[in-house]
Amino acid sequence: MSDIKAPKGTRDIFAPEIQKWQYLENAIHGYYKKFLYQEIRTPIFEHSELFSRGIGSETEVVQKEMYTFTDKSDRSLTLRPENTASVVRAAIENNLFETMAPLRFYYIGPMFRYDKPQKGRYRQFQQFGVEVFADDSPQVDAEVILSAVDFLKKLGIEEIQLDLNSVGCPQCRPAYLEVLRKAARASESRLCVDCRRKIEGNPLRIFDCKLPECAEATRQFPVLGDHLCAECREHFTAVRETLSWMNIPFQLNPRLVRGLDYYTKTAFEVISGQLGAQNALLGGGRYNNLIKELGGPDMAGIGFAAGMERIILHLQSLEIPRARILFVACQDPQWLAHAIQLAQVLRAEGYPVYLDYQGKNLKKQFKKADRIAAAFTLVLAEDEVKSGTVSIKNMASQEQIKISLKDLNAWLKTNY
Ligand code: AMP
Repeated sequence: MSDIKAPKGTRDIFAPEIQKWQYLENAIHGYYKKFLYQEIRTPIFEHSELFSRGIGSETEVVQKEMYTFTDKSDRSLTLRPENTASVVRAAIENNLFETMAPLRFYYIGPMFRYDKPQKGRYRQFQQFGVEVFADDSPQVDAEVILSAVDFLKKLGIEEIQLDLNSVGCPQCRPAYLEVLRKAARASESRLCVDCRRKIEGNPLRIFDCKLPECAEATRQFPVLGDHLCAECREHFTAVRETLSWMNIPFQLNPRLVRGLDYYTKTAFEVISGQLGAQNALLGGGRYNNLIKELGGPDMAGIGFAAGMERIILHLQSLEIPRARILFVACQDPQWLAHAIQLAQVLRAEGYPVYLDYQGKNLKKQFKKADRIAAAFTLVLAEDEVKSGTVSIKNMASQEQIKISLKDLNAWLKTNY
């Protein structure tokens, strides 16, 4: 056995789990078309500056979790830790704000974070997400949230909780940050070293700390909800009202700040009741300044990203029927040309076909057909080739019939 293993925090995905991934990916493509989202694929690495500027240099992701490397031309590149900054960069670079309408995107792809691996947390993980630009209506926030929650429900994931908050905007947040700083300084001795450092930089990040002592200390901190400006308050009220029209239950969580700096106004997270410590299925929010900060127009944006590994954990009981395989067996290598041509015809009709080339006897080929769980074995021997027929063995019942090749398609249509 090779002593080279997959890097820590990465995993191989293969059958039968891979079928769940294909199912999930197809479901995403199908679902988001209904909301007129278009798929976007961006590179998995970008200039490091995109993330430090986009996500925020004070964030945990940028400070500790980025896979950053220098390429042969001395450029600093980073494996993308998330995709919103990349989608915004792509929209600016390709002038999509001018050429594409509506500006609604969805993506599926791997993200990379140097995180502590555990169940539901990996260093290479897969996210799908959506981004909607150019619309600051609170109803869009509600529609994005609806699409996330409804999609999970369509997958059969019912035990979920939607947490909602408003993280304010550049009008109201600075004054609140001062109030928060004051409270944090007063409780400094109860905070971890990391959080103490955040007090002067971005004290909002203290709410992200996973240590119980820090979480306990923040309980007495003032919350942003009590310091929102009139515009943010109205926006938030309208988001909640629209969600109630949509029949989407939610829970207000005044300490939900999300791990990335670019959020403004609405922030949300969907938590699963079925997962352990890593129970966040998806998270997102509005980012009305990010596009401008990255050099684009002054344009609103909102989106979310969902962890696909965690969604897959919910699909354990999903039964995906196995493809029914047709095994073409050739009694003697001299009939191989007929067998190959028969396989080609069957594949063109859409059937999954396996053909054994190893020239083994029929008994061994039947054994192999059993091993790969073929539904039928189609046998070509001298008699069949000479009479333009094929023998078909039902591998479950062991029954065997012989039919004319010209009737094969019709037979498969009723018996496959
Ligand atoms: P974030 O981009 O941090 O807002 O995360 C959005 C979602 O991605 C989370 O709710 C998780 O479901 C998932 N996620 C984030 N980090 C990881 C990770 N290291 N491994 C697996 N899933 C993750």
